[in-house]
Amino acid sequence: MKITLSITHNCNLRCEYCYAGEKFNRIMDMDTAKKIIDFAFAVTPSSESIDFGFFGGEPFLELALMEDIIAYIHTKDVSNPITFNITTNGTLFNDTILRFIRRHNIQLSISIDGPEHIHDKKRKYKNGRGTLKKVLKNLEEISQELDYFQVNAVFGPDTVVQLDNTVQFLMDEGVHNIHLNPDISAAWDEEHLPLITQSYKEVANTYIQMYENDQEVAVNLLDNKLILFLKGGYEASDRCGMGESEFGFSPSGNVYPCERLIGDDTDVDMMMGNIHTGVNLLARCAVGKQFASSNAECGECTFKKYCMNWCGCTNYHMTGATDKMSAMMCHSERHAITVAKHVFNSLQENSLFAKHMLGYTHKE
Ligand code: SF4
Ligand code: SF4
Repeated sequence: MKITLSITHNCNLRCEYCYAGEKFNRIMDMDTAKKIIDFAFAVTPSSESIDFGFFGGEPFLELALMEDIIAYIHTKDVSNPITFNITTNGTLFNDTILRFIRRHNIQLSISIDGPEHIHDKKRKYKNGRGTLKKVLKNLEEISQELDYFQVNAVFGPDTVVQLDNTVQFLMDEGVHNIHLNPDISAAWDEEHLPLITQSYKEVANTYIQMYENDQEVAVNLLDNKLILFLKGGYEASDRCGMGESEFGFSPSGNVYPCERLIGDDTDVDMMMGNIHTGVNLLARCAVGKQFASSNAECGECTFKKYCMNWCGCTNYHMTGATDKMSAMMCHSERHAITVAKHVFNSLQENSLFAKHMLGYTHKE
């Protein structure tokens, strides 16, 4: 079960592509948070793990609230394995935050889009100043203190050609877990598709080179597909459980099938009720039915079993329908699968790569 609490609509940044909508000072209260936790345990079988995520806005603006929520979770007499994750812009960091992360073994996802000319173009403070300098200063400490963290890099039509630069830049900064995510709010056109093809090839070649130089790295664009080759494709349980085994809650307690759909908490089409008045099961069924891709071309597509065309949230952001994959994502998936196959074939004899893949099969 994946439960994400968007604990504040507030943020100290004003990124150009922010999915969290308008910023305002609405913070989740403890009564709402407690009801969400109670709901999470009520709908999750006792043998199943629960991953609690903190999201925003910027969650580290509300450190005390996160402490209280985690303390409340620990008062529960339950047997579910529990994990925590936080998505942060990486600008707020100090010893208290570090101790909090370590104490609760929290998985940290930090947003860094690449070198200064890429990151600072979009990820800015309210006064328009770029944030990279501050984030890199914090990253230095984070990489010394934490064994595991990941970096999320968002790329758009204007920066996709520099994707490989971003990967190399992050590796030079000591990042070993890199998540490359397209900006799903951007206007991707036909003209951008060849740029995606070229950039994915470059990233794959850099990845191969890293392993040939005996350096381990994880890049979601490739690793997500490489795992699928070992498994023989997505299983039903891999697909996102929007509104079934995945819920996002806004500060007001409104329930959404995914945290990326919360925005500024006004999209009534995606709302599935409120934690204070109950989750609307009819809405939940209606939303849940629409996740399989209905694109005609998917039917016979040879990439189908490795393709994420089922991601209702991405589809909804890009086409307005949870069951319609955009041309950009279709192209992106085809080429991610193609370059991952090239990586797989090229590194078959590489022992570090074999160890890296074995790590995933042990986690399954
Ligand atoms: S840091 Fe996150 S929540 Fe804040 S403005 Fe940027 S994308 Fe939005
Ligand atoms: S690659 Fe495109 S056509 Fe093929 S399954 Fe995915 S979305 Fe459908």
